[in-house]
Amino acid sequence: MTESAPHATDDILFGLDAERLHAVRESRLAATLDRIFSSHAHYRARFAELGIRRADIRTLEDLRKLPITSKADYMAAPDSFVLVAGPQADDEERAQWDTMYTTGSTAAPTPFVSTSYDFLNILAANVNMMRLRGVTALDSVLNLFPLTLYPHGAFARALHAPAAFGIPVTAALPGKASARRPEVGRRLDEIVALAARVQPSILWGVPSYIRTLLGRAEEQGVRLPSVRLVFVTGEGFGEAARAAMLDALRRLGAAEPRISISYGATEMQGGMVECTAGSGYHNPAPDQFLIEAVDPQTHLPVADGAPGLLLLTHLDRRGTVMLRYSMGDVAELTRSPCPHCGALTERLTSIPFRVDGLVKIKGMLVNPLVLVDSVNALAGIADFQALVRKQTPSDPLSPDQLIIRLAMSNTATEGLVQRVIEAVRSAIRVTPEVELVDAVEISAGRGWKAKPLIDERATPA
Ligand SMILES: [Zn+2]
Repeated sequence: MTESAPHATDDILFGLDAERLHAVRESRLAATLDRIFSSHAHYRARFAELGIRRADIRTLEDLRKLPITSKADYMAAPDSFVLVAGPQADDEERAQWDTMYTTGSTAAPTPFVSTSYDFLNILAANVNMMRLRGVTALDSVLNLFPLTLYPHGAFARALHAPAAFGIPVTAALPGKASARRPEVGRRLDEIVALAARVQPSILWGVPSYIRTLLGRAEEQGVRLPSVRLVFVTGEGFGEAARAAMLDALRRLGAAEPRISISYGATEMQGGMVECTAGSGYHNPAPDQFLIEAVDPQTHLPVADGAPGLLLLTHLDRRGTVMLRYSMGDVAELTRSPCPHCGALTERLTSIPFRVDGLVKIKGMLVNPLVLVDSVNALAGIADFQALVRKQTPSDPLSPDQLIIRLAMSNTATEGLVQRVIEAVRSAIRVTPEVELVDAVEISAGRGWKAKPLIDERATPA
């Protein structure tokens, strides 16, 4: 390999000054661009179309000459984002290690391919996430992510990260993964008992499930004094929610619990994490990921601290590789060292929020148009409206609820409600509840432009 890698002893988060980190990133980008211009089907075609040559992109600064890559580009042809290993690639760079899928339920789930080389990078990034979050050699993890139909980074990497860090991990496997194997997966009470037995110091999962678990533990008089850290990811989680969960932990005997929030992405197989509450979300591997913030309309860079559309560039991957990939969220980005931990890497200093048409329901990325299409396809419906809200509107931690308000026509036949539930579930893999209403009720509340999905959840602060 020709690229100048950082020395093995260099600490990418805390060991390099700005100049050296910049040099590492430039050399990684140059090597990535060489591979892309020779063997990345999507970008080769796209750049040829736009007349962009390899020589046009010499520095990190030059990246802005490249178009942004949308989620739609990726979803349309995910295989074209996988590098074809050239003759120089070694076995590690070539061997496919695993394929994870985006949580999106739009059309087909999108595969994200990692080679063995990438998997080692993922482990390094996962270890950095744990260091930023203050994990020590004395910690132990209870992984509370469920099994999913398609392999997903959350469950898998919450096993791999402790393995790479060298601390124990217990997988709780909440829920039943499949009716075919009813013995796989655990009920809530079994997981409360498991937590009481193993007394983990770290709970890691989606906030709504952890909240439910803590509530049930309290009902049963179970104590969890060992818990000192909670890692949450995958759902919006504001400061009120954080305070409520910390109270719940203290009631279970935790002395000084902390909660670290992650802004996770399948395309990172990890996430940007807080080192301390309010510190912002740190890019855990600046040698692997470059984060930019641009104006959502013009795609020109915004100043540090101004809200911008987040773009991810892979600096060192061999499987699926993306340049200036739009993560679909807007947030404020800063490049100054963290005042809390001193890490020199990008941080998001505000909670990212979605800008495109995709909506997250129960942790699934849903295209509202796919949902609407699935219901539109059924006969016997006078009108309908889809809305998503929190089960308890005042509680940001309460689960999402997808409601289909349905007005039947007089041609409706028996079993329509069940068919609506089935159609929506199979289209977006979220099970809705159906409320029967009069057509007038739906049309009365509708503005000049019908929205496919009304989101009644509070927008993140
Ligand atoms: Zn920090």
